[in-house]
Amino acid sequence: MKIELRNISKTFGSFRALNDVSLSVESGELLALLGPSGSGKTTLLRIIAGLEDADLGSGPILFDGVSVSDRRVRERKVGFVFQHYALFRHMTVAKNIAFGLEVRPRCERPSRVEIRRRVRELLELVQLEGLANRYPCQLSGGQRQRVALARALALKPTVLLLDEPFGALDAKVRKELRNWLRRLHNEIHVTSVFVTHDQDEALELADRVVVTNLGKIEQIGTPDEVFHYPESEFVMNFVGDVNRFHGRLEDGKLCFADLWLEAPEDRDGTSGPARVFVRPHDLDVDIRPNGTPSLRALVADMHSAGPVVRLVLRSEGGHTLFAEISQARYRKLGLRAGSAVCVTPHNVRVFPDSS
Ligand code: ADP
Ligand code: MG
Repeated sequence: MKIELRNISKTFGSFRALNDVSLSVESGELLALLGPSGSGKTTLLRIIAGLEDADLGSGPILFDGVSVSDRRVRERKVGFVFQHYALFRHMTVAKNIAFGLEVRPRCERPSRVEIRRRVRELLELVQLEGLANRYPCQLSGGQRQRVALARALALKPTVLLLDEPFGALDAKVRKELRNWLRRLHNEIHVTSVFVTHDQDEALELADRVVVTNLGKIEQIGTPDEVFHYPESEFVMNFVGDVNRFHGRLEDGKLCFADLWLEAPEDRDGTSGPARVFVRPHDLDVDIRPNGTPSLRALVADMHSAGPVVRLVLRSEGGHTLFAEISQARYRKLGLRAGSAVCVTPHNVRVFPDSS
């Protein structure tokens, strides 16, 4: 099912929670809405579901090209999973999953045998086969969210909406569930919109990411596009760590942190103050100059307990830089606190200084 939203706005009193948002979710796609708290993600999800109406004057919401703006929640056949999805405490896992089917009007309700078969299938799909007779209080947080997902899928939704479903779980479980959900989606391919404020989650999980800020869309792109080619300062800052500098563009050159580089192609013709951004892993660190323009700096601090080594560097000009290098490179360079290094930035991004 393809979903299209056209020019959607939503005001609460005088507060504009969504400001002219347009977007498409392709059939079978897993799309992430990524933005800080309060940027309008939940509101957008509720409007897709029909739990909230968009403002008058907004464009339509289309499911496979047909407007559903006048359809109620049930008629839209949308499945939901929320951060705190209240499973029925007095019902077993199996009963919870079957619930939506059992409360259907008799003419639409599958037979008891059919319901039992479907529950078994879903338990297998969410890998909880052995837990059918447990009660929610006997499950871990991650298992409960998998039951919630099975319950949503029981109704064969045309669209699955997930609002920070792993938000209340600890980091390790979140990561496991994120991988698990991606694999599950590869299997069932139901068009899904996943809300999160965690950039790692969005980048790892989604086919495409929609970055939201203050009720607007900042950028839509694949995880690679939003990470490597952010179109705005906001996206650059929000999607991953970054070093920031005040600099200048002049005659095809870029100056920042006492360095002169060729201006990036997209800023070649411009002059004036600029905001300069470099990701920590795009700072090459060496112990001697390697022929390219580089900064001299001292290692002020370092954190080597992790998949990469994070360095805090202090340049001669007094700038603090954060760099990330591999463990192998770290060992090769033999760095320690106080070591003198040369730092070469790559993939420098520049935005005009509007302040
Ligand atoms: P997110 O999910 O990105 O954190 P929300 O969509 O929940 O953001 O909210 C966006 C903004 O709209 C917030 O500032 C929130 O306070 C406001 N808002 C959301 N729902 C209501 C409501 N029912 N009444 C008033 N303000 C609301
Ligand atoms: Mg929210």
